[in-house]
Amino acid sequence: MPLTILNTDLLPGRNFIAGTWMEAEDGAVFAVSDPATGKDFASVPDSSAGDARRAVDAADTAFASWRKVPARQRALIIKRWNDLILANLDDLGRLISREQGKPLAEGKGEVAYAASYVEWFGEEATRADGDIIAAPVTGRRMFALREPVGVVAAITPWNFPAAMIARKIAPALAAGCTVVCKPAEDTPLTSLALVRLAEQAGVPPGVLNIVTASRQQAAHVADVWLDDPRVRKITFTGSTPVGKLLARRSADTLKKLSLELGGNAPFIVFEDADLEAAVEGLMVAKFRNGGQTCVCPNRVYVHQDVHDDFVSRLTTRVQALVVGPASDPASQIGPMINTRAVEKIDRHVRDAVEKGAHIVTGGHRLEPGSGAPAHYYAPTILTGVQASMACACEETFGPVVPISCFGDEADVIRQANDTPFGLAAYFYSRDVRRIWRVTDALETGIVGVNEGAVAAESAPFGGVKDSGYGREGSRHGLEEYMHIKYVCQGQL
Ligand code: NAD
Repeated sequence: MPLTILNTDLLPGRNFIAGTWMEAEDGAVFAVSDPATGKDFASVPDSSAGDARRAVDAADTAFASWRKVPARQRALIIKRWNDLILANLDDLGRLISREQGKPLAEGKGEVAYAASYVEWFGEEATRADGDIIAAPVTGRRMFALREPVGVVAAITPWNFPAAMIARKIAPALAAGCTVVCKPAEDTPLTSLALVRLAEQAGVPPGVLNIVTASRQQAAHVADVWLDDPRVRKITFTGSTPVGKLLARRSADTLKKLSLELGGNAPFIVFEDADLEAAVEGLMVAKFRNGGQTCVCPNRVYVHQDVHDDFVSRLTTRVQALVVGPASDPASQIGPMINTRAVEKIDRHVRDAVEKGAHIVTGGHRLEPGSGAPAHYYAPTILTGVQASMACACEETFGPVVPISCFGDEADVIRQANDTPFGLAAYFYSRDVRRIWRVTDALETGIVGVNEGAVAAESAPFGGVKDSGYGREGSRHGLEEYMHIKYVCQGQL
């Protein structure tokens, strides 16, 4: 049974520009499909350069007044947006599950998670104050004022269609910026629903604009925004190659950038770890969203003294996971987003086996139910994984746990850091001295110590190295949308 959306107002199916829901300029559309069946079930505008330009025109016009709206008033609108998101939590959860494939409980969980950022940034809007600076000479007054950067372009990925929108748009609006947004082509419906609720919350026309586009058109839309000097900031979550492309293309207009890119998280289990806690932490961190998460452990290093015990406990848990469509309440792992994704996972597993890895469980595609395309992958554990295998150096983005054995702390830290990526890292140990030593040594923006679920609206989320720069969440997440104006006033 497909998931039904009760509040059909959440399905505008069009672009939103200057406060009006509209088709693409040339009337083009593209299809949205259900990852569980591969069948198309909706269509949205396939926008082109003209639509992208019109969105910037609207955002630029609206910026002049939105930046002057008192912070408390902006906060009230954002708070109403949060209330509406929570009031529609069930429908939004169903929509996420329908277009993205994650089990319904996770879809609803994502809505609550997204709302937590909206609420947080509504509150932060009222705290964006500046500094009074001690003057070096008598009679001078010196200030650092915070101002919104201007028009922000937000480009988001498919794996968290609600959370990625919330983490970008809520702080931008809170700071006094206006927004043009292009959501991922696989999951445009959740973003449109959230924008509909922002409209109902009282976000004024032109302040928040959204255009949808197919993979082919995405670059044309982005090109307009990259070339336009009125767009002062790009906030992007997605793959590292596209992030680097945007950074290069932003150079001519020197835009501010936030880039939340790919990861290759290590997960280290030391010999002094609480093994049950480590298994639980890995299950949470690895299998959320079927392993399609940027902070997913992608390389698991287990100390030789506890390796077999850990693998045996983990295997029991992994073999109990239920794979199936998002609409089945029993499902814990849904379908992967598309054929390309499931083929990549299978390629990584085959490559590992050819190079000597051992499949403990899983290791193949699945077809639960009748007639479903093979977008499902069996939860998999590989042992004997080596650094040269694709699954250890590229994001697999699926329900695969690649395990390697280690004997020495310095060596495992070297291996953990031996990657161009630096988003998240996790480790389990009960030795306080080791905890600080390892935390200091890991080259990542996020470290989970004896904890597998690290994200929170009050915490700075982001990476180093090829995982990008900029932070989302926390007070740092608001600063990304502001610049500092220094004012020096002489004696009158
Ligand atoms: P992607 O880079 O393929 O696409 C992301 C967005 O960029 C989409 O909206 C897409 O349409 C757009 N895009 C694609 N080509 C473009 C181009 N040439 N110019 C402008 N825009 C373009 O990434 P994806 O497959 O949607 O998402 C998965 C990736 O996102 C993974 O690498 C994952 O690790 C990363 N991710 C990172 C974080 C984080 O916070 N660091 C969070 C979620 C996902």
